[in-house]
This record gives sequence, structure tokens and C-alpha cells, in this order.
Amino acid sequence: MEILRRIPETRVLVGPEDLEPYRRDESHVAGSAPLAVVQPRSRAALRELVRVAAAEGWGLVPRGAGTGKAGGCVPTPGTVVVDLSAWPREMVLSRTDLTLRASASASLREVKAAAAKGGLFYPPDPNSWESCAFGGTLATNAGGPNACKYGMTRHWVLAVEALMADGEVHAFGIGSVKSNTGPSLAQLLVGSEGIFGIILGATVRLLPAPTDFLTLLLPAQSWTDLLDVPERLFASGLLPSAFEFFDPAVLEDLRRHGPEEARRLPGEALAVLEFDDRGCTAEPFLAALTELLGPIAQGLQLATDARQREAIWSVRRKTSAHLKERYPKKVSEDIVVPRSRIRDFFEGLGRLEIPAVTYGHLGDGNLHTNLLAAGETDPQALEGQLMDLFRLCLSLGGGLSGEHGIGLAKRDAFLRLSDPYQVEALRGIKRALDPKGIFNPGKVI
Ligand SMILES: Cc1cc2nc3c(=O)[nH]c(=O)nc-3n(C[C@H](O)[C@H](O)[C@H](O)COP(=O)(O)OP(=O)(O)OC[C@H]3O[C@@H](n4cnc5c(N)ncnc54)[C@H](O)[C@@H]3O)c2cc1C
Repeated sequence: MEILRRIPETRVLVGPEDLEPYRRDESHVAGSAPLAVVQPRSRAALRELVRVAAAEGWGLVPRGAGTGKAGGCVPTPGTVVVDLSAWPREMVLSRTDLTLRASASASLREVKAAAAKGGLFYPPDPNSWESCAFGGTLATNAGGPNACKYGMTRHWVLAVEALMADGEVHAFGIGSVKSNTGPSLAQLLVGSEGIFGIILGATVRLLPAPTDFLTLLLPAQSWTDLLDVPERLFASGLLPSAFEFFDPAVLEDLRRHGPEEARRLPGEALAVLEFDDRGCTAEPFLAALTELLGPIAQGLQLATDARQREAIWSVRRKTSAHLKERYPKKVSEDIVVPRSRIRDFFEGLGRLEIPAVTYGHLGDGNLHTNLLAAGETDPQALEGQLMDLFRLCLSLGGGLSGEHGIGLAKRDAFLRLSDPYQVEALRGIKRALDPKGIFNPGKVI
């Protein structure tokens, strides 16, 4: 590893105890030990890193905060992890352009806070927003509860700066909402999970910050009553900024064993609905909503102040970590179906007898189906269950992943279930951009 130590402005980690934490992310997948971990701080360092990797035949695995849930940043054999945490942080807000330019090494929390400080709003809000890196959210095209109204990260990205296989940093796109000079390479990099290059920063667009919030708990006595609510709400022109839910098993687990705030959550199943339209806290809005919801609205509870609102969201944000702590070997999927097919999805899941519990983003059909007993299930049977789950989603016009991506965890299923033409097209793009296969080898395709 002497050759890595000669790279300027770069910290190099090689000790087994230093490398161990880099073998994992927040998925169930463990990678190989990396050859080394490097923390570059300059363009000169990156240039040299690419040169060395190409000469030695090593792969480079980009890593943000390691909160990914698809095994995207875990090392495959013969790779060096490029940890971006030491990359210089820059943040430039333009209140005229309504844009923010930020380094990949900034945390998403810092990006959202910088926008908020200027009275503006950057909507992407994966539930890991307090811990993930901005670069990681760009590379995974992260979405979160707000996606049902505001879309995912890619809907906000105008321009991207990335290290490409020639060792240089290139700027793709411009910081303007109108730009139309052929296919967008900036957008190609968003959601590319590190297989085309390493994202060093991006310019994203912002909105004036919403000022009114209506947050509601919608408990259901019979949980299937919740399944038609998304269709009814959206078809009537109401656009919640978040619509999350817990099925009866997840809700009961949270109530019995979860954080303090979860102990008194009501219902057999529970949805959390939020609106951020101007005037949504006024009586006429609530009256119209109650009428639309019909009998299920009887148990509606309002979060009346910021403290209650935070308590509700805190439970939602902690759900993933809570289940992981209780069932460390669980497999968590993030399948997606169109919201008009949510009921069909749950009926299909019942027919297939897949032993799963589900919570997640009911408002956009992105559901976290968790196989809690995965660790105790025969591996072949488990694979059969997962393939059945994915095929069910595809048959309903949905997909394998709504937000976490493919990484290593879903690569086999992705390759087996995708249109071969599209896989070959992606491989062709990979060959064109990264002919030596340096960036994140063995992932996605
Ligand atoms: C509790 C919890 C809740 C979560 N909730 C959500 C959610 O609601 N929505 C959602 O979308 N995700 C969610 N996630 C998953 C994860 O947090 C997001 O995917 C996040 O965007 C990953 O960011 P990261 O910095 O941790 O990336 P990492 O885990 O470090 O990397 C993720 C992938 O991006 C690549 N990558 C990272 N940085 C770069 C870069 N600069 N250039 C190129 N490639 C790069 C890596 O190689 C890897 O393939 C959740 C995770 C946890 C633990």
C-alpha cells in the first residue's frame, strides 16, 4: 500500500481494525475487507488515485456516510474505499437563483439547514437525513416521506460535479431550471450508485419554505381500511407532503418495545398524514379532509404543536433502526407499486404467504416489507420468497426498489428480472464512461 501513501493530501487507512467498519453499510450485506481506505482532500489526490487504481487494477468504492441499505458502498474483492468525509466542504446559497451548491461531503442535515436559514426548502428527506451525506443521497437518488408530493433527489438536481475515469473533475449541467442541451449526464450520475464516477458536489434547486403544517395521526380499527385512502386523497386533488403507515405487526412491536413516544400510538394500524399547503391549518381545509376520509376520520388526531409533530416523526424515523435492533438478521426490502395498486399488493402478499411485516411510504406505494425471520429461514426458501415478492411488484407495474437502489443486495434479482436490453444498455454506458471498470465494480450491473 506504499503506493497509496505517496498520493498527496490523502489519509490512508490500512489497519484491520480501521478497515473493519467499512465492510458494512446499513443493509444485511457484508463486503470483503478493502485493500485500504483513502480519504482524499484535493483534485490532485483524486487524479493520482485514479491513475494508481488503473495501473494496479484496483476498483474504487465511493462511500458517503455508509447509511445505504443496498450494500452499495461495501467493498468487493480488490477494491479501495474512497471515503469522502474529508473532502473540503463548501456551500453556496443563491436566493436569486433559488439554488444551493454543496459538496458531496456535506451532510444532508447541513444542506437542508443551509436552505432553511435562507427561508428556503430542499425537499428530499430520507429518514436517515440526520446522518447521511449529501453525496450519498445524490448517488442513490434518495427519497423519503416528502417524495409523494415533491419527488426524489433527482427532481431537484440541476448540475453535478464528478470525478470521472480520466482522473479529472467534470461539471455536468448548469445551475438553472432551464437547460436543454441534449441528454443530461448530470441526471445520469444521479442514482448511479457510484458506478460511473465519484460525485463531488451538486447544485440543487430550492423552494420558498412552507410555513403551515397539518400533521395528523390516522388510526384504523381494521387496517385494510387504510389501503384505499391514498387513491381517494390523490384522486380528489389533495396532495399530502407525507403519507406514512405502520401495519398492525410493526405498530404493535413499536408500542411494546419501541421508543417512549411510540407507547401510546393508537389503532390496529396507523397512518401519519402531513400537509404543508398554505392554509392547511385552517378549519375549512380540515373539514374538507374529514369529509373526504369518511368514517375512518373518526379517530383522527391532530399534532397541535411542533413538539407533538416532532414526536410523531421521531417514531417514524426510528422504526428502521428499532426493527434492526430487535431482528438483526432481518431482510428489509423497499419495493414499490403504483399507489392505485397498493390493495392488490397486500392481497398478493397474503396469497403468497410470505411471512413479512410492512411499514413505509403509503402515499407513493414505496413499502418497506421486512422479512423478520430471514436469519432463521433456509437460504433457498428465503431467496424464493424474495423473488416472489419482486415478481408480485413487477406484475403490478412496480419495481424492486423505490428508494434504496440496487447495490450488491439486489444485484442478482435486478439482473434476473430486468429487460436484458436495458441491462446491456447500462453496461454499454458503463464501458463508455469507465472502460477499465474502476468505479464500484460488481455493483448494480
Ligand atoms: C434509518 C435509515 C433510514 C433510511 N431512510 C431512507 C429513506 O427514507 N429514503 C431513502 O432513499 N433512503 C433511506 N435510507 C438509505 C440511505 O440512508 C440513503 O440511501 C442515503 O442516501 C445514503 O447516503 P450515504 O451517504 O450514507 O451513502 P453510502 O451508504 O455511503 O453510499 C450509498 C451508495 O452511494 C454511493 N456513493 C456514496 N457517495 C458517493 C459519491 N460521492 N459519489 C458516487 N457514489 C457515491 C456508494 O458507493 C453506494 O453505492 C435509510 C437508511 C437508514 C439507515
